[in-house]
Amino acid sequence: MMEYIEKKFDAEQVIGDFELMTKDAGRIQEEILRKILKENEGTEYLKQWGLNGRTDVETFKACVPIVSHNDLDPYIQRIVDGDLSPILTGKPIQVISLSSGTTQGKPKFVPFNDVLVNSAMQIFKLSFAFRNSSKQFKTKGGLAAGTASTNVFRNAQFQKTVKTMAIPVCSPDEVTVGPDFQQSLYCHLMCGLIFRDEVLVVSSMFAHSIVHAFQSFEQIWEALVVDIREGDLSSRVTVPSIRLAMSKLLKPDPELAETIYIKCSSLSNWYGLIPELFPNTKYIHGVMTGSMEPYLKKLRHYAGELPLLSADYCSSEGCIGVNVNPKLPPEMVTYAVLPNIAYFEFLPLKENLIGMEQANSTVGLTEVKLGEEYEIVFTNFAGLYRFRLGDVVKIKGFHNGTPELQFVCRKDLLLSINIDKNTEKDLQLAVEAAGKHLVDEILEVVDFTSHVNISADPGHYVIFWELSGEATDKILQECCNCLDKSFLDAGYVSSRKVNAIGALELTIVKRGTFHKILDHFVGLGGAVSQFKTPRCVGPKNSSLIKILSNNVVKSYYSTAFC
Ligand code: AMP
Repeated sequence: MMEYIEKKFDAEQVIGDFELMTKDAGRIQEEILRKILKENEGTEYLKQWGLNGRTDVETFKACVPIVSHNDLDPYIQRIVDGDLSPILTGKPIQVISLSSGTTQGKPKFVPFNDVLVNSAMQIFKLSFAFRNSSKQFKTKGGLAAGTASTNVFRNAQFQKTVKTMAIPVCSPDEVTVGPDFQQSLYCHLMCGLIFRDEVLVVSSMFAHSIVHAFQSFEQIWEALVVDIREGDLSSRVTVPSIRLAMSKLLKPDPELAETIYIKCSSLSNWYGLIPELFPNTKYIHGVMTGSMEPYLKKLRHYAGELPLLSADYCSSEGCIGVNVNPKLPPEMVTYAVLPNIAYFEFLPLKENLIGMEQANSTVGLTEVKLGEEYEIVFTNFAGLYRFRLGDVVKIKGFHNGTPELQFVCRKDLLLSINIDKNTEKDLQLAVEAAGKHLVDEILEVVDFTSHVNISADPGHYVIFWELSGEATDKILQECCNCLDKSFLDAGYVSSRKVNAIGALELTIVKRGTFHKILDHFVGLGGAVSQFKTPRCVGPKNSSLIKILSNNVVKSYYSTAFC
């Protein structure tokens, strides 16, 4: 296998190509724009903007508007309904991705094609090269679970690439693509245990799924041990294809069962669970930045001394950048933009412009300024032109000619009643600050979300917490007061002072409530590996509001705001 990697996948070569490309980022960007516009000049969408065959940056910016998903939705809907005419792309779109858009409870449709698979593969290879360019990781095969979103993952070309890179996944395909998430997870954990000495990497798309997998392990480990001891798969697994595939792997192994039993019973509060179960693991890999930061603490707990390597920056709309310094702790990770996967523009955040002023205010990939924050706008090969991704990034440095971005937050405001403006990041910081009051009780916030309640005047913020155990009323009242004071936005503070925003409500929900939210998302057709807990539940998201309100344990209201 070692020989195979050397022949088929040359990490030095992949990195070398990247170095050359990033040195020439400006020219490559112009070339990419020219190519995209040429390929799609006959589309209904582009024809209306009067480019008349021109493909230069100035004309493009002057003619084509900056749009968001809502503007493109009528076009995308026609494609979804089977219209094969050149609407957004010259070649018909055959596949649609579901992006997570969970705040309003509706996944969004995003056009997808082979060029996006290619860019995902390019990122995948590059990131693998940066993670594994030191010899120590090139010894033998290992585990990589759920390393790409479903469309990419199921693509034949992608699967071929993964095979040429010799990255075996410890579970059979029937388990990985099984129709029932709980059953797949059970068997995936089982396969991990069977091949425990060969597991080199524990990985998933987002850190949340890794934490979720090991939280589930805490609940089901004894059943797994019984199955391994007997060599007989639990009746909880009912999907025939999964049962058949597992029957080829699962043999009675009392010795392994005993080892797992001893390890699990002797761990203190599951600290270091991952290296105990998989002793040859080199690192944990998954997106750990942005909305995944709140899971870092739990992940570190399960990881013990193992390094956490934050995965790359990709979205359903296309990939953006690679973590070229994988050894940095997740909190410091930046992403170098790949100049050949899309045409990138950056909308300065400071200026609140609209219309033509906004359309002209973007700067190109090589024009961004160090330390500045921008919203990403991009044009890809799958029919998105000057598309607002909705992400805010900060320029932290440059890799040759291409910027290294730090993910800051989603642009959408989460919490706003009148003049107050609080983002996902503001909420995360407030929850972190208030969560410190739980430390002495050896408790933690398992997950959280929020909601703006305007059913009474004045409106107020509601923060929902699921806790790892029971806290006293006194502590929770302190947490509630602290949450209220931790939203530092001037609009919020001044509105609270004059009671234009009412007392903040902290609502504790039952254990398992956030798993119910995940199940609900999966029920809508979403992939578990793509799940991001919605940090704000919008007023139209009645199903989520129902799940939360059906699981309330107790609510607290902040007192004495000054
Ligand atoms: P989706 O469209 O469901 O695939 O979600 C894509 C979104 O996930 C991006 O627009 C980002 O907001 C977020 N995301 C993806 N990768 C990262 C990352 N490495 N760090 C932070 N956020 C990320």
